[in-house]
Amino acid sequence: MPMSVTHLGTGSRGNATLVECGESKVIIDQGFSGREFERRLSLMEIQPHEIDAILLTHHHGDHGGGAAIAQRRFDIPILCNDRTATALNLELSKVRIFESLESLEIGKLSLLPVPVPHSGADNVGFIASNGQERAAIITDLGSWTEELVTHIHGCQHISIEANYDHNKLWNGPYPMRLKERIGSRGGHLSNHQTGEFLSNVVTAETKSIVLTHLSERNNLPHLAESTVLYHLEDQFEGDIRISLQDGPEFTHHLSANESEIDARGRISLHL
Ligand SMILES: [Zn+2]
Ligand SMILES: [Zn+2]
Repeated sequence: MPMSVTHLGTGSRGNATLVECGESKVIIDQGFSGREFERRLSLMEIQPHEIDAILLTHHHGDHGGGAAIAQRRFDIPILCNDRTATALNLELSKVRIFESLESLEIGKLSLLPVPVPHSGADNVGFIASNGQERAAIITDLGSWTEELVTHIHGCQHISIEANYDHNKLWNGPYPMRLKERIGSRGGHLSNHQTGEFLSNVVTAETKSIVLTHLSERNNLPHLAESTVLYHLEDQFEGDIRISLQDGPEFTHHLSANESEIDARGRISLHL
């Protein structure tokens, strides 16, 4: 059964990503208000009660800030690690706590949480699998580990943050302490770091990449894309896209052959 990945929006004002396989639907991160979450899903013609689970990467407001409202208002089960649940004050009896590298089975999907470094948070990236293909969703990390490279290597789809352009950050208006925090090992990935990471994990199997969580002040889509492609050179011949704050914009379908624009005007990439 094919799997698809749709970003409902990514960035410092809210993140949510829909992963589907047949009837199975999971959301990775819920950083939107209840109303905004419902509205973005409705653009996909999906009702909140159709969502099987929300998995959280970490507790920061743009990723977990809307989890409690989704749990209360729509009764959607939440899965996250202990620190994230505690920091978000979630109703623990309704939360499934996972450990890093514990395989989580949700309908036709399995999801693997892989730890990533991010200051003041116990953050994970997720690898979603339908048994044939693997799609990685990784965000909010200042650096990467060998463990992450091992797990992401050869994924068919990779969504990863490209948060800032090095020059724009360091020459920009942010206070020095904030610049240092963003640029630190536990901050966010620059376009160059993301390109370097991808050059370690992209293989001939990798068909699509989405760059996410671009800083609205310290980055531009064309800088993110050109920097990443510079690092990948001939290594990647698939499709590269940018997910911005307002989505959903497009859906990546794994295991198909052509691209088309669907009835709702979204581009579906059949890879
Ligand atoms: Zn974030
Ligand atoms: Zn964060």
